[in-house]
Amino acid sequence: MDLLEIRKHPDKILRKQCLPVDDITGKEFRLFDRMFSTMKHFLGIGLAAPQVGIAKKLIVAEVDGKIIKLANPEILETKGEGYMEEGCLSVPGLGVNIKRPFEIVVKGLNEKGKSVEIKAKGLLARVLQHEIDHLKGRLIIDYMSFFEGTNFRFKK
Ligand code: ZN
Repeated sequence: MDLLEIRKHPDKILRKQCLPVDDITGKEFRLFDRMFSTMKHFLGIGLAAPQVGIAKKLIVAEVDGKIIKLANPEILETKGEGYMEEGCLSVPGLGVNIKRPFEIVVKGLNEKGKSVEIKAKGLLARVLQHEIDHLKGRLIIDYMSFFEGTNFRFKK
């Protein structure tokens, strides 16, 4: 299989502001594919390009059989709010309970370069927001709180 290496914190690439892509060429199309295979191999449900060493605005996800491959994702609307524990392939062994909107509308380019709007709620909305954070150089550790009771735990 054509796997990519997962970059782990404190790798500097994870802190970069990623650049938008102009278009989906064969290069981006293949990268989406390789990112998706890599995500599946490591049992992830979402992956962002900086996690495989590429500072471009590309994310992939799969939740409940729904596959998302999105370039230049941008959140247009949010609704509700709730806590959920998040993990990250780039920060192994850590779970952080993070408060985020429960429902979102995201726009971007799909793997065919077509402009799309995706309505997501629950776990999918959660994953997309987590991956969009990666494109801004933001990690789950940035949400860790040591006050008023910790909101994180170490996993085996
Ligand atoms: Zn992550």
